[in-house]
Amino acid sequence: MAAATTAGTATSAEPKTYLNYIGGEWRPSASGATFDNINPARRSDVVARFQRSTLADVDAAVSAAYEAFAAWRDLPAPARGEIILKAALILERDRDRLAAQMTREMGKPVKETQGDLQTAIDFGKYVAGEGRRAEGETVPSAIPDKMCMTFRQPLGVVGIITPWNFPMAIPAWKTFPALLAGNTVVLKPASDTPLSSAALVEALIEAGVPAGVLNFITGPGGTLGDALVTDPRVAMISLTGSTEVGKHVAELCGRDLKRCSLELGGKNAVIVMDDANLDEAVAAVSWAGFGTTGQRCTATSRVIVHEKVAGAFAEKLAATAAKLRLGDGLLPETDMGPLVNEGRVTAVHEYVEIGKSEGATLVAGGHPVTDGELAGGAFYAPTIFTDTRSDMRIAQEEIFGPVVAIIPVRDYDEAIRAANSTIYGLSCAIFTENARTVFRAMRDIQSGLVYVNAGTTGAEPHLPFGGVKQSGNGHRELGHKAVEEFSEIKTVFVSYPDVK
Ligand code: NAD
Repeated sequence: MAAATTAGTATSAEPKTYLNYIGGEWRPSASGATFDNINPARRSDVVARFQRSTLADVDAAVSAAYEAFAAWRDLPAPARGEIILKAALILERDRDRLAAQMTREMGKPVKETQGDLQTAIDFGKYVAGEGRRAEGETVPSAIPDKMCMTFRQPLGVVGIITPWNFPMAIPAWKTFPALLAGNTVVLKPASDTPLSSAALVEALIEAGVPAGVLNFITGPGGTLGDALVTDPRVAMISLTGSTEVGKHVAELCGRDLKRCSLELGGKNAVIVMDDANLDEAVAAVSWAGFGTTGQRCTATSRVIVHEKVAGAFAEKLAATAAKLRLGDGLLPETDMGPLVNEGRVTAVHEYVEIGKSEGATLVAGGHPVTDGELAGGAFYAPTIFTDTRSDMRIAQEEIFGPVVAIIPVRDYDEAIRAANSTIYGLSCAIFTENARTVFRAMRDIQSGLVYVNAGTTGAEPHLPFGGVKQSGNGHRELGHKAVEEFSEIKTVFVSYPDVK
């Protein structure tokens, strides 16, 4: 028997079908078609069904957001902040249930989905307060009887397009500040993880977000994304995804000079100097390289190691990788879950073959894992290459899987050259005990995030997050800058000469 829910319907035998959320109503797509949301640890487990939306749904969602804008903009920012704070508290209340649901949808172990959720919760609490802070400038005028000031105003409708690897944190990092700034939103999540975004939408609805202010549509990124990006009523696009898709979206936005905030790929390196604490570096690389199955934008995929310690480092890392337990992320003993889908297994394996043909030495993994229970999922062994050269494709291109390439170097200068040799610049780390080397690296590394004696991953909600070069287009998420990204400065001159 079908049980009615806010977002869709479910029967005991059938997975729940989620609807789009447009203009304050959960509605089926104009297409009448759905797609399955599959558990990557067990392909036979259909987690839920989602709407395969069409251009008509994009149009309806943008229309609803466009109409709702004026009233939402005029609601005082502290009142908008109250709604965001409530949504964060709802996510906190439901944390354990949501983390389990996210793991089932996306694969990473529950302790990682808990962290993903926690970032969304912490940032929601932080950014809600920005509603009472939103500062402008008040400065003297050069002219008598005149006052000058600036304040920030929202842009209008913001299209938010998100990836699957942080299925709660990233949609929240964008949606919370966009709404706080007074924009209305159309959210289109990645098709591998629409359930987590639906949970965010449900939390915001429960928190009191008015009809039309937040709209949610699911379906193919290419068609829906292009329609959202090119709709003239959409004032801004905020996208996190691959550099390839980011460039495409930037080109479309550029035609109309539409604001476009992009957080894109990475090829993040850890530099290990010969004076480093090797055990500390190995533990950090294991977590940053194999955590989330290597599918974080900040994942360590290159380790640039001083040649004096490269052999010892590789041995220790291979020993650590051999102990990682692969499995369903819902099981407490699991260290590493599956890749997000079968297509990713093929893509990662292709890169491993490329690495072998380029002459790098495979010292661990290098194959899908299909033993016993794992046969039904998208599992891939933690993989390590040594003798990698910096110009090899496996050292240049984003693999987005549990593959770490060790690149031996002679000294600090060669390490920095190798670290900076890719088109990306998201995150980079250095392990050394030498304070001079630390400060030189802080200056010399070309990346938006630098970690000293820690791996390449991890964000704090009150600090800006983002990359340089082709890892982004200069915007930053998180911190108070996040609200600036979603708002425009207005400069006002008030004349008050005595005209009596
Ligand atoms: P992706 O680029 O394939 O997709 C990202 C989103 O864009 C999805 O919602 C997708 O449906 C949509 N999309 C696809 N084609 C589109 C188009 N033509 N127009 C508009 N939207 C379109 O990326 P993914 O596989 O979901 O995520 C992995 C990528 O995201 C990696 O490259 C990773 O490094 C990057 N990432 C970056 C950050 C960061 O903060 N820099 C964070 C997480 C992930």
